[in-house]
Amino acid sequence: MYAKNAWQQYSPEDMKALEAFAQDYRKFLDGGKTERECVKEAVAEAEAKGFKSLDDVIRSGETVKPGDRIYCAWMKKSFMAFIVGTEPMENGMNILGAHIDSPRMDIKQNPMYEDESIAYLDTHYYGGIKKYQWVALPLAMHGVVAKKDGTCLEVAIGEDPADPIFYISDLLIHLSADQMQKSAREVIEGEALNVIIGSMPLKDEEKEPVKKAVLQLLKDKYGMEEEDFLSAELEIVPAGASREVGFDRSLIAGYGHDDRVCAYPSLRAIEDYEGVPARTLCAILTDKEEIGSVGATGMNSNFFENVIAELLHAAGIDSNLAVRRMLRNSYMLSSDVSAGFDPNFASVFEKKNAAFLGKGICFNKFTGRGGKSGSNDANAEYVAQVRRIMDDNGVDFQTAELGRVDAGGGGTIAYMCAKYGMNVIDAGIAVLSMHAPWELISKADLWEGYKCYLAFLKDAGK
Ligand code: MN
Ligand code: MN
Repeated sequence: MYAKNAWQQYSPEDMKALEAFAQDYRKFLDGGKTERECVKEAVAEAEAKGFKSLDDVIRSGETVKPGDRIYCAWMKKSFMAFIVGTEPMENGMNILGAHIDSPRMDIKQNPMYEDESIAYLDTHYYGGIKKYQWVALPLAMHGVVAKKDGTCLEVAIGEDPADPIFYISDLLIHLSADQMQKSAREVIEGEALNVIIGSMPLKDEEKEPVKKAVLQLLKDKYGMEEEDFLSAELEIVPAGASREVGFDRSLIAGYGHDDRVCAYPSLRAIEDYEGVPARTLCAILTDKEEIGSVGATGMNSNFFENVIAELLHAAGIDSNLAVRRMLRNSYMLSSDVSAGFDPNFASVFEKKNAAFLGKGICFNKFTGRGGKSGSNDANAEYVAQVRRIMDDNGVDFQTAELGRVDAGGGGTIAYMCAKYGMNVIDAGIAVLSMHAPWELISKADLWEGYKCYLAFLKDAGK
């Protein structure tokens, strides 16, 4: 149904299913604070639900057939799952595509220093953030340290209540006369995002005794040398688990809803799909969206196209034309979050074309900025098809633009998949405080998102 409050239509059974799904999502969100952790969770879930690794399929030389459930983890940072359909693969796929990277602060390669008996790690922020939001709050460290001997140390510190956390200081209000005059962009500058990691000096040490003490700890605990930071990917993220919000617990505050709140239901939709589909189904969880989908694990890379070629090869089809047809004939939902209407900041929205919490999955025909610059503008015929699918399957949905015309803007992976000539539209969940350390979503929208993605896998292209 279009633009109705979903909560008002739920039966007690609906409420039970919605609540169970919300709790499953929270587990995924709390366990997956980095793209690598999300891929790890996705692989474990997919294997438990009968998906086999594409690498294993290639190695064994087995022929892929309808009903086969296959996944591919790309460089441990992006993930794809497929269910092979009965129709020729060249007829195209029904694709869900979300991203699993979120804004954060990355540890620099030469990060460590000591200043006035405090040891710090220097960071470089990742993605679009309001830097002043990321100070004076509990922080955790997640990631990997790759060592020269080929081993890779996995790090996750600050989530267990018994763990220490990390911290970036802000200036006390008493001495902030000058700071309070600055523009929000400069209140906290990028180079001021320095993480406190210790303050206890080594006893008989003159030079940098705190830094040396911390390095000693790292060596004893993790076998790590200072130089190992050179080949590490360590991400500083808000510490702690997601929480339910409100007396009615209808909302969830958590780190990284953008875009795990679409990634998780996309993953679940393909995993929970029962039977053998006519069209081949696909879910993509990709990396690097927040910095422009660049790099070997971002959607601008050819990894997806290459995997499609491998899949066709495994099905006995070695044809470049078949790859192109399979992509061209696909239908896709770019599963990415939308800006939720915020009554506290009503002036940046245009109410007739805004996404509201609780009104279901949100379709953005286009995103972009200014005169729709940089957007994928979905075809009217395709929008009609998704409207029909939503109504046929009782999914609550709404349509929106990303704020008022000329208020700002943003993009998703939609236009990168559209370059293959496939039909793509953005379909995601509305978020308040997007890109803040703690973002807010509605459980009803999460549930309608899952229903939407399932319905789309089942009915698109029919
Ligand atoms: Mn996003
Ligand atoms: Mn984003």
